[in-house]
Amino acid sequence: MLKLTNARQLRTLLVQINRKYSSKTDTAHYKVVVAGGGAGGCAVAARAVRALGQGNVAVIEPAKTHYYQPLWTLVGAGIKKVEQTARPMKDVLPKNCDHLAEKVAEFDPDRNTVTLGNGKKISYDYLVVALGIQIDLNKVEGLVDALNNDPLVGSIYLPDMASKTFTAMQNFKGGNAVFTFPNTPIKCAGAPQKIMYLADEFWRKHGVRDKAEINYFTSLGKMFGVDKYAATLREIVKRKDIHVNFRTSLKAVDHRKKTVTIEYLDSETGEEQTHKYDFLHVAPPMSAPDQLKNAPSKFVDSAGFLDVNQLNMQHSNYENVFGLGDCTNIPTAKTAAAVGAQNKILFNSLQSVMAGTSPNGQYDGYTACPLVTSYNKCVMAEFDFSCMPLETFPVNQAKERRSMYFFKKNVFPEIYWNLLVKGHWGGNKVFRKVLHLGMSK
Ligand SMILES: Cc1cc2nc3c(=O)[nH]c(=O)nc-3n(C[C@H](O)[C@H](O)[C@H](O)COP(=O)(O)OP(=O)(O)OC[C@H]3O[C@@H](n4cnc5c(N)ncnc54)[C@H](O)[C@@H]3O)c2cc1C
Repeated sequence: MLKLTNARQLRTLLVQINRKYSSKTDTAHYKVVVAGGGAGGCAVAARAVRALGQGNVAVIEPAKTHYYQPLWTLVGAGIKKVEQTARPMKDVLPKNCDHLAEKVAEFDPDRNTVTLGNGKKISYDYLVVALGIQIDLNKVEGLVDALNNDPLVGSIYLPDMASKTFTAMQNFKGGNAVFTFPNTPIKCAGAPQKIMYLADEFWRKHGVRDKAEINYFTSLGKMFGVDKYAATLREIVKRKDIHVNFRTSLKAVDHRKKTVTIEYLDSETGEEQTHKYDFLHVAPPMSAPDQLKNAPSKFVDSAGFLDVNQLNMQHSNYENVFGLGDCTNIPTAKTAAAVGAQNKILFNSLQSVMAGTSPNGQYDGYTACPLVTSYNKCVMAEFDFSCMPLETFPVNQAKERRSMYFFKKNVFPEIYWNLLVKGHWGGNKVFRKVLHLGMSK
């Protein structure tokens, strides 16, 4: 016979019974619900669980595996194995959160609920949205078919295709190597060219480069959004003899004919050209997750990204909703480094709102892109909302450096697994200040 000694025990038991026996139509309730258990979701959930304790925080995340995506570039070049970027999701999510292994199918911020893929509703006091960005392979005609069937087509933007990229790189024996950058928002905007520089060096080492032409098709009008680093990259493509085709976009791939169709974005007549390829690396189109695109219009911007205040990560229209990372309309480059700074500011905002005060965060847009330019060098781009450099180290980071490659390959993964996803990393502002003797922003 069960004996209950106090009211608290009785309450806990009732909550447990309610969760266990609630049917599909019932609603489970949490103080904080985190939608998405990637970089941002884990970091915020870990902080929330520490502050609120067991039973108060749920993370809704369907994936069984959590990936450290920034290493997929090195997987594509054979430097790392994809298994080294993966951990079971259950080991990465904070221990004391409830993991709901479903996707969010629908947001209803007016009723403080989300509906899961299995139809169950979850209600919340506070919601944190961290769904990442969606990869839209179907927006390029023939791309899925080419990725699945042509051994010389790859993409570091998908874990299995990242490994395949290296196999393709090894199998390329010369001809036209094509690399693309999409005409959409993108996570880690440097990655499409990093893999190209690594491929160039790989083919040089293996005696293939002099039989190959490398063509980079990018929707952008310059090599990189920050002038200081773009200048270095312009020199690098010149040195490596890479042909850059600005303001172009991949429209279709026909792997049977081994051709790509390229759109010329500034052409008034809608010019398109078909080119032969012998190796193809695609950075696919991306967009806001469909669940956000389909959400009420007050919840998202016109492109479907979560509409948040860029300084404090609180939602622009719902004061109990917060968001970070790639699924938001925060106007900075979408990276894990940005999430590193945002998660702490977001959590401070959440705590302020819980305490009945207004958030006072002042996110500066800090983001970073370690532009790997060879198998042992990297340009460490770090910048803010206005695309002005915001560098951690007191050296010229626009220079290719071995030390920065060491950080990218060895140090950042450790920071990610041991600090960021555990909610112990709030960005490198403190290190930047110390290393600049207090003279940096
Ligand atoms: C090839 C590549 C190279 C990169 N290089 C770098 C780099 O060098 N430096 C850097 O800082 N960043 C880099 N990034 C970017 C970085 O990985 C992302 O910006 C970062 O992971 C964003 O974190 P997030 O939490 O917003 O999204 P994610 O980490 O992508 O997490 C989103 C989570 O939401 C889940 N989810 C999606 N839909 C739903 C749903 N409906 N319901 C519930 N859960 C859902 C997903 O399963 C996922 O776990 C790179 C990325 C790639 C792909």
